[in-house]
Amino acid sequence: MGVDVWVPRDEAEPEEIPAPTGGLDWEELKSCVASCTRCELSETRTNTVFGVGNAQADWLIIGEAPGAEEDRRGEPFVGRAGKLLDEMLRAIGQSRESVFIANILKCRPPNNRDPKPSESAACREYLERQIELVQPRIILAVGKIAAQNLLNSSEPVGRMRGRAHDLGGIPLVVTYHPAYLLRSPSQKHKSWSDLCLATRLAAEYSA
Ligand code: URA
Repeated sequence: MGVDVWVPRDEAEPEEIPAPTGGLDWEELKSCVASCTRCELSETRTNTVFGVGNAQADWLIIGEAPGAEEDRRGEPFVGRAGKLLDEMLRAIGQSRESVFIANILKCRPPNNRDPKPSESAACREYLERQIELVQPRIILAVGKIAAQNLLNSSEPVGRMRGRAHDLGGIPLVVTYHPAYLLRSPSQKHKSWSDLCLATRLAAEYSA
Protein backbone atom coordinates (compact mmCIF):
# COMPACT_ATOMS: atom_id res chain seq x y z
CA MET A 1 0.00 0.00 0.00
CA GLY A 2 2.64 2.46 -1.09
CA VAL A 3 4.96 1.29 1.70
CA ASP A 4 8.41 0.12 0.53
CA VAL A 5 9.47 -3.18 2.01
CA TRP A 6 12.93 -2.77 3.46
CA VAL A 7 15.27 -5.58 2.54
CA PRO A 8 18.56 -5.91 4.43
CA ARG A 9 21.52 -5.48 2.08
CA ASP A 10 22.74 -9.07 2.52
CA GLU A 11 19.30 -10.51 1.66
CA ALA A 12 18.76 -8.38 -1.49
CA GLU A 13 18.90 -10.08 -4.92
CA PRO A 14 22.56 -10.31 -5.88
CA GLU A 15 23.40 -8.31 -9.00
CA GLU A 16 24.37 -10.61 -11.86
CA ILE A 17 28.11 -10.27 -12.31
CA PRO A 18 29.25 -11.37 -15.76
CA ALA A 19 31.88 -14.09 -15.76
CA PRO A 20 35.34 -12.68 -16.53
CA THR A 21 36.90 -13.67 -19.85
CA GLY A 22 40.48 -13.49 -18.53
CA GLY A 23 41.69 -17.08 -18.82
CA LEU A 24 39.33 -18.25 -21.56
CA ASP A 25 40.66 -20.01 -24.65
CA TRP A 26 39.25 -19.34 -28.13
CA GLU A 27 36.43 -21.92 -27.97
CA GLU A 28 35.47 -20.98 -24.41
CA LEU A 29 35.36 -17.32 -25.39
CA LYS A 30 33.21 -18.15 -28.40
CA SER A 31 30.64 -19.98 -26.30
CA CYS A 32 30.72 -17.24 -23.68
CA VAL A 33 29.84 -14.72 -26.43
CA ALA A 34 27.14 -17.02 -27.85
CA SER A 35 25.29 -17.05 -24.53
CA CYS A 36 26.00 -13.43 -23.56
CA THR A 37 23.25 -11.42 -21.86
CA ARG A 38 25.42 -8.49 -20.74
CA CYS A 39 23.28 -5.94 -22.57
CA GLU A 40 19.80 -5.61 -24.01
CA LEU A 41 20.96 -6.42 -27.56
CA SER A 42 20.83 -10.08 -26.50
CA GLU A 43 17.04 -9.75 -26.50
CA THR A 44 16.78 -8.69 -30.15
CA ARG A 45 19.66 -10.54 -31.85
CA THR A 46 19.20 -13.64 -33.99
CA ASN A 47 22.84 -14.70 -33.76
CA THR A 48 25.91 -13.38 -32.03
CA VAL A 49 28.71 -12.53 -34.48
CA PHE A 50 31.99 -13.63 -32.91
CA GLY A 51 34.08 -13.00 -36.01
CA VAL A 52 35.53 -14.94 -38.89
CA GLY A 53 38.91 -16.00 -40.16
CA ASN A 54 42.22 -17.18 -38.81
CA ALA A 55 42.52 -17.15 -35.01
CA GLN A 56 46.30 -16.74 -35.44
CA ALA A 57 46.11 -14.03 -38.08
CA ASP A 58 48.69 -11.29 -38.56
CA TRP A 59 45.88 -8.90 -39.46
CA LEU A 60 42.92 -8.14 -37.21
CA ILE A 61 40.20 -6.12 -38.91
CA ILE A 62 37.72 -4.45 -36.57
CA GLY A 63 34.41 -3.00 -37.73
CA GLU A 64 31.43 -1.57 -35.95
CA ALA A 65 28.62 -4.06 -35.38
CA PRO A 66 26.65 -6.70 -37.26
CA GLY A 67 23.95 -5.51 -39.65
CA ALA A 68 20.77 -7.38 -40.61
CA GLU A 69 22.43 -9.94 -42.88
CA GLU A 70 25.31 -10.50 -40.45
CA ASP A 71 22.80 -11.05 -37.63
CA ARG A 72 20.96 -13.61 -39.78
CA ARG A 73 24.12 -15.47 -40.77
CA GLY A 74 26.26 -15.03 -37.67
CA GLU A 75 29.18 -13.78 -39.79
CA PRO A 76 30.63 -10.26 -40.07
CA PHE A 77 30.74 -8.21 -43.24
CA VAL A 78 28.63 -10.37 -45.54
CA GLY A 79 26.71 -7.64 -47.35
CA ARG A 80 27.87 -5.20 -50.06
CA ALA A 81 30.31 -3.56 -47.67
CA GLY A 82 31.70 -7.02 -46.95
CA LYS A 83 32.31 -7.65 -50.65
CA LEU A 84 34.28 -4.42 -50.84
CA LEU A 85 36.22 -5.37 -47.71
CA ASP A 86 37.06 -8.71 -49.40
CA GLU A 87 38.37 -6.78 -52.44
CA MET A 88 40.43 -4.49 -50.23
CA LEU A 89 41.95 -7.55 -48.53
CA ARG A 90 42.65 -9.19 -51.90
CA ALA A 91 44.52 -6.05 -52.99
CA ILE A 92 47.01 -6.56 -50.14
CA GLY A 93 47.36 -10.29 -50.65
CA GLN A 94 45.02 -11.22 -47.80
CA SER A 95 41.60 -12.85 -47.61
CA ARG A 96 38.68 -13.40 -45.26
CA GLU A 97 40.35 -16.70 -44.31
CA SER A 98 43.86 -15.33 -43.69
CA VAL A 99 42.89 -12.35 -41.49
CA PHE A 100 40.51 -12.26 -38.54
CA ILE A 101 37.47 -9.98 -38.84
CA ALA A 102 35.62 -8.84 -35.72
CA ASN A 103 33.44 -5.96 -34.60
CA ILE A 104 33.18 -3.65 -31.62
CA LEU A 105 29.77 -5.23 -30.90
CA LYS A 106 28.97 -8.93 -31.23
CA CYS A 107 25.23 -8.28 -31.54
CA ARG A 108 23.20 -6.20 -33.97
CA PRO A 109 21.80 -2.91 -32.71
CA PRO A 110 18.15 -2.64 -33.81
CA ASN A 111 17.68 -0.68 -37.06
CA ASN A 112 21.47 -0.50 -37.39
CA ARG A 113 21.67 2.43 -35.01
CA ASP A 114 25.08 3.36 -33.58
CA PRO A 115 26.23 1.28 -30.61
CA LYS A 116 25.44 2.87 -27.23
CA PRO A 117 28.51 3.50 -25.03
CA SER A 118 27.09 1.03 -22.47
CA GLU A 119 26.86 -1.68 -25.19
CA SER A 120 30.42 -1.07 -26.39
CA ALA A 121 31.62 -1.18 -22.78
CA ALA A 122 29.77 -4.43 -22.09
CA CYS A 123 31.29 -6.03 -25.19
CA ARG A 124 34.79 -4.62 -24.81
CA GLU A 125 36.18 -7.48 -22.73
CA TYR A 126 35.38 -9.97 -25.50
CA LEU A 127 37.28 -7.95 -28.08
CA GLU A 128 40.19 -7.44 -25.70
CA ARG A 129 40.44 -11.18 -25.11
CA GLN A 130 40.24 -11.79 -28.89
CA ILE A 131 43.16 -9.38 -29.37
CA GLU A 132 45.16 -11.13 -26.63
CA LEU A 133 44.54 -14.54 -28.18
CA VAL A 134 45.09 -13.59 -31.83
CA GLN A 135 48.17 -11.46 -31.10
CA PRO A 136 47.99 -9.71 -34.47
CA ARG A 137 50.89 -7.80 -36.02
CA ILE A 138 48.51 -5.08 -37.16
CA ILE A 139 44.99 -3.91 -36.29
CA LEU A 140 42.93 -2.17 -38.96
CA ALA A 141 40.04 -0.18 -37.53
CA VAL A 142 37.44 0.40 -40.23
CA GLY A 143 35.15 3.36 -39.73
CA LYS A 144 34.44 5.95 -37.10
CA ILE A 145 32.80 3.73 -34.48
CA ALA A 146 35.63 1.20 -34.44
CA ALA A 147 38.36 3.84 -34.45
CA GLN A 148 36.81 6.07 -31.81
CA ASN A 149 36.05 3.15 -29.51
CA LEU A 150 39.45 1.52 -29.82
CA LEU A 151 41.42 4.74 -29.47
CA ASN A 152 39.05 6.33 -26.97
CA SER A 153 38.87 9.40 -29.18
CA SER A 154 36.23 11.66 -30.66
CA GLU A 155 38.30 12.68 -33.69
CA PRO A 156 36.79 12.11 -37.14
CA VAL A 157 38.22 9.29 -39.27
CA GLY A 158 39.72 11.85 -41.64
CA ARG A 159 42.04 13.01 -38.86
CA MET A 160 42.83 9.57 -37.41
CA ARG A 161 43.62 7.84 -40.70
CA GLY A 162 46.95 8.03 -42.49
CA ARG A 163 49.17 7.53 -39.43
CA ALA A 164 50.23 4.81 -37.03
CA HIS A 165 48.46 4.46 -33.67
CA ASP A 166 49.23 2.05 -30.87
CA LEU A 167 46.83 -0.25 -29.06
CA GLY A 168 48.56 -1.88 -26.11
CA GLY A 169 51.81 -2.15 -28.07
CA ILE A 170 50.19 -3.34 -31.33
CA PRO A 171 50.26 -0.95 -34.30
CA LEU A 172 46.80 0.20 -35.35
CA VAL A 173 45.75 1.96 -38.54
CA VAL A 174 42.41 3.67 -39.06
CA THR A 175 40.69 3.72 -42.42
CA TYR A 176 37.28 4.43 -43.89
CA HIS A 177 34.46 1.92 -43.46
CA PRO A 178 33.74 0.07 -46.72
CA ALA A 179 30.08 1.15 -46.49
CA TYR A 180 31.31 4.77 -46.61
CA LEU A 181 33.59 3.95 -49.56
CA LEU A 182 30.59 2.54 -51.43
CA ARG A 183 28.92 5.93 -51.01
CA SER A 184 32.10 7.92 -51.65
CA PRO A 185 34.24 5.94 -54.10
CA SER A 186 36.44 9.01 -54.68
CA GLN A 187 37.93 8.35 -51.21
CA LYS A 188 39.12 4.84 -52.08
CA HIS A 189 42.64 6.00 -52.84
CA LYS A 190 42.99 7.16 -49.22
CA SER A 191 42.01 3.72 -47.95
CA TRP A 192 44.52 2.19 -50.34
CA SER A 193 47.26 4.31 -48.83
CA ASP A 194 46.08 3.30 -45.30
CA LEU A 195 46.31 -0.35 -46.33
CA CYS A 196 49.84 0.22 -47.65
CA LEU A 197 50.80 1.89 -44.36
CA ALA A 198 49.32 -1.04 -42.41
CA THR A 199 51.23 -3.52 -44.58
CA ARG A 200 54.50 -1.72 -43.82
CA LEU A 201 53.79 -1.55 -40.09
CA ALA A 202 52.87 -5.26 -39.97
CA ALA A 203 56.17 -6.13 -41.66
CA GLU A 204 58.16 -3.97 -39.21
CA TYR A 205 56.35 -5.15 -36.08
CA SER A 206 58.02 -7.66 -33.84
CA ALA A 207 56.12 -8.58 -30.72
N1 URA B 1 29.56 -3.31 -40.85
C1 URA B 1 30.37 -3.57 -39.81
O1 URA B 1 31.01 -2.67 -39.27
N2 URA B 1 30.46 -4.82 -39.40
C2 URA B 1 29.81 -5.82 -39.98
O2 URA B 1 29.97 -6.94 -39.54
C3 URA B 1 29.00 -5.52 -41.09
C4 URA B 1 28.87 -4.26 -41.50
